[in-house]
Amino acid sequence: MNIIVEKYGGSSVGSIERIKKIAQRVVNRQDQGYRIVVVVSAMGDTTDDLLELVNQITANPRQRELGMLLSTGEVISSSLVAMAIQSLGRKATALTGAQAGISTDGVFDNARIIDIDTSHVIKLLSAGEIVVMAGYQGKIGNEITVLGRGGSDASAVALAAALDVEICDIYTDVQGVYTADPRIVKDASLLQGISYEEMIELAVSGAQIMMARSVEIARNYNVKIRVSSSFENCSGTIITKEDELEKVIVTGVAVNKNVAMIDIFGIKNQTQEIATILSHITEQKINIILFSSNSAGNQSADLSLVVKPDDVSHVEAILQRYNHQYKVNSNIAKVSLVGSGIANQYGVAYQMFDAFAQNGIDILMTSTSEIKIATVIPRDRADEAVQKLHEKFQLNHLQRQYKEL
Ligand code: ASP
Ligand code: MG
Repeated sequence: MNIIVEKYGGSSVGSIERIKKIAQRVVNRQDQGYRIVVVVSAMGDTTDDLLELVNQITANPRQRELGMLLSTGEVISSSLVAMAIQSLGRKATALTGAQAGISTDGVFDNARIIDIDTSHVIKLLSAGEIVVMAGYQGKIGNEITVLGRGGSDASAVALAAALDVEICDIYTDVQGVYTADPRIVKDASLLQGISYEEMIELAVSGAQIMMARSVEIARNYNVKIRVSSSFENCSGTIITKEDELEKVIVTGVAVNKNVAMIDIFGIKNQTQEIATILSHITEQKINIILFSSNSAGNQSADLSLVVKPDDVSHVEAILQRYNHQYKVNSNIAKVSLVGSGIANQYGVAYQMFDAFAQNGIDILMTSTSEIKIATVIPRDRADEAVQKLHEKFQLNHLQRQYKEL
């Protein structure tokens, strides 16, 4: 079967007018001879609105009801998209994640897909139906679960993998993946291709374009992702294996302003005490975004942690319990340079520091991996830092060609 899996994000199904447009696109695709599975996000800001309703009741909802509530956004959009397709005279069936056979683990409000039984979807496709699946959700036993935020991407990619489809289309409100956020950098360039690893790194670094976990699924199951616009005709960006792409050193710059830093001073029994602090943080399921420790040849060590602002008070409670001295800095941003060639190229860190030094931007912390250099800087300089790095590495000329094999 010639199957296409295509996912439409929240803005693409944000109004009835848009839903009707999507329905027409899907029908046109079907006329080209494809069997189509459409995966949809909730309309516009529905998920945030639902969370706001919860907020008016409790800060600690039970996971089960929270998952159940959040799943409704995509149930609405999938039902409406199916109706819009039906009203164009085609057969379409809306399915919840559970009805589509998506099984997850038991974390009701932040679940992971563990298995997909595609038999029902395949039966519908064989009968000439267009399947419209609600993204962001699954089931465990008789219970409804939702994946993490942005999880409709993961639903689409996982379903593409299970259906053995080579490429999963993600339609959004931009033309693809850019070298930096075009709202910050005017001459950011649209990438033809980007590697799975780079995309994961950009996603966790703050580029709000793909859910990181969905790219991991694509990498693990060898599914290519094409990110492109649901509003314009464009070739988009292919997310694929490194060896299918032109070699480059730096591919993009990302910024995450939703972070805070905690500096902890004078940790005496260095390794043991740091391990203890980290164990308490882990118990609370707090994700440490960046971490650096430094003993500078002293008897004691300093430790810096970057976490989400919401997690700061929990970390503070732990530090107070153990009488640690610390300081919180909430006015920071994380700016990351990402590229597959960084590990094998000298001088990248130098150029990055040089760009900041020339513009008087202080670096408060640095952390590197094979394919990224992340810095923590004052938040009010973040956009400027992204622009300067983009300029320094001449990313306005970059395309990163995708070699079709
Ligand atoms: N509606 C969910 C969210 O806003 C999932 C998604 O859009 O992919 O996070
Ligand atoms: Mg989304």
